[in-house]
Amino acid sequence: MRGHLSLREEGEMRLRLLISREEIERRVRELADLINRDYRGKNPHLVGVLTGSFIFLADLVRLLTIPLTLEFVRVASYGAGRESSGEVKLLLGLADSIEGRDVLVVEDIVDSGYTADFLMKELARRNPASLKLCVLFDKPSRRKVPVRIDYRGFEIPDVFVVGYGLDLAGRYRNLPDLYALEEE
Ligand code: 5GP
Ligand code: MG
Repeated sequence: MRGHLSLREEGEMRLRLLISREEIERRVRELADLINRDYRGKNPHLVGVLTGSFIFLADLVRLLTIPLTLEFVRVASYGAGRESSGEVKLLLGLADSIEGRDVLVVEDIVDSGYTADFLMKELARRNPASLKLCVLFDKPSRRKVPVRIDYRGFEIPDVFVVGYGLDLAGRYRNLPDLYALEEE
């Protein structure tokens, strides 16, 4: 029963290590180097997408040496399920004005692309000086709408992943590595 998942215990699903914390750390450092270089002399405003990006953003910003500000937005498309509905809404919007700012959106993962597409269009309407997207995990084979990714951590196959901020029905966000969820 989907509403009462107790994964390992029921033997229905298991977690397979996909990307280790060391690999993630190395790649986050490379992304930070690129961002430090590209935004030199600028003062970007980072917009993290809750909840999945909270660990990525926390690790990333501590490697950034440029002056920056940041805040979070929350969008909803998934609920507790695993398929995007294609219907995205902004549940928690921007507190600060981004007009004239160099905005960098930080996302955990792009799957269908609906969420990123919606959010980037929504932010573009507010006249930022520039608007870019940084995504840690990308599943290009799942794309329904095209998304331009400026900084990409990893391309991953069509698997459902958890850990490093990503959840299944609220669980597993605290796992330091990235796991693929496999049904047995
Ligand atoms: P999209 O709108 O691109 O289909 O999906 C974007 C959102 O769906 C992500 O920000 C993330 O919250 C969730 N999502 C997509 N794929 C996965 C996945 O493999 N694992 C988890 N935990 N969430 C995912
Ligand atoms: Mg997300």
